[in-house]
Parts: sequence; C-alpha cells; structure tokens
Amino acid sequence: MEMATEMLIAERVADVRARIATACLKAGRMPSQVRLLPVSKTQPVTAIRALWQATGITRFAENKVQELVAKETAFGSDSPLTWALIGHLQTNKTRAAAVVSSEFQALDSLRVAAALDRRLQELGRTLEVLVEVNSSGEESKWGLPASAVAAFAEEVTTYPRLVVRGLMTVAAAETARAAQSFYLMAELQESLLRSGVPGQWSELSMGMSADFETAISYGATCVRIGAAIFGERNYSG
Ligand SMILES: *Cc1c(COP(=O)(O)O)cnc(C)c1O
Repeated sequence: MEMATEMLIAERVADVRARIATACLKAGRMPSQVRLLPVSKTQPVTAIRALWQATGITRFAENKVQELVAKETAFGSDSPLTWALIGHLQTNKTRAAAVVSSEFQALDSLRVAAALDRRLQELGRTLEVLVEVNSSGEESKWGLPASAVAAFAEEVTTYPRLVVRGLMTVAAAETARAAQSFYLMAELQESLLRSGVPGQWSELSMGMSADFETAISYGATCVRIGAAIFGERNYSG
C-alpha cells in the first residue's frame, strides 16, 4: 500500500475517534464506552493491514462469510487479527462462520442459532453473539421485529456455546428516522435488562458512517464504520 494511503486511513481513524469523543462528551458518556469496529468489506487486505499498523486495531468486521474466510487466510493463522461477522448468515455457512469469527452480530434465527451451537460444540469453542433487530421496519433489512425480541432472547440464551452480549441494528437510512431506530433499540435493551432474561444485553451495536454520532447519543456501545475510514466502497473492483 502507498504510504500516502496509509496516512490517509490513519487520519480518517483519528477524525472518527475525535467525533466519537465529541459525541460522548455531549451525551455525558465516556469514549471508552464506545468501541470503534472498522468494517472492511470490499476493502483489500493492504488497507486492513495499513489500518492495523497505523492504529493497533485488531478486530475487523465483514458482512460475508466467504470474504471473511479469504481475508483470514490472507493474514494467516499467526496474525493477531480477529473478525466480527456482521451480515446475515445462512445455515449452510455456520461451520465456516464458527471457525473464523470471534463474534457474530447478526443473529436473527433460532435455526441458525442451533446450527452454530452445534458447530461450536464440535470445535470446542464459544462465540459472542448479538441479536439483530429490524428497528426501521424496512422490508429490505434483516433482523427480528422488535415485538419478537423478548421471546427470542429467552430461547437463544439456552444455547450453551452462544455467549449473548446484546443487540445490533442497521437503522433507517433517512436521518430523522434513524434516531427513531436508535431510540427503539435503547428501549428494547432497557426492557430486556428489566425483565431479567438471562444473557448480558450490555452491547448495543448501532451507528454507521452516516449516523454514528446520533447512535452514540442513544447509547451505542459499538459503532460499525466502513466508508468514513476506508473511503467509499468500490463494489465492482
Ligand atoms: C457496510 C456495513 C456497515 C458500515 O457502513 P458504512 O456506511 O460504510 O460505515 C455497518 N454495518 C453493516 C451491517 C454493514 O453491512
């Protein structure tokens, strides 16, 4: 990777971190309460390496299992990098997902939960999971409807290999409606914590390049940032 590109990525990360700190200050929160998760989908391995070297960040997010496997293979098994899978998972890819990911943020089906649990048991490991919620009601989006989350939470915490940490959402694209998504997520988290469902429910993964500051004001503990760090994605390339 060109030195100039490496510096550009480092500058963008510093800028995003400063914006996270400002949003936290406004919300009366600590920047240490918000994890920055870089989303490296469609980005080359050289860009991931540049970010890692410039910042020390070792956890990256991908939305497709195959792409995650390819990148993990490119870095090799002695690399300190770990991976979050943040996209929809099909049952027939649960084995690969169980092998390569350290956290799965898009759980929205008990079939997938059961298949993952079985794979993890075979591998002798556990996996941190977040339950994905469709907080916008948009049909194009994955995730459980908010009304189904409480019952799902009861069931999903019975799988011993899944370590349930909280909730994830992709908010409505339109800014005004994104705030409603985040508000709904904060309410859902509150009600899970109050109801005493097993599991931790402390993580709220919400906020992307266009809306992470708003998400932080509603209590996001993990922001998933792609374009604001790596630049616009080039799907054709
Ligand atoms: C691509 C993606 C992101 C990052 O989006 P940007 O707008 O590039 O920051 C976050 N979450 C999910 C689930 C994604 O697929």
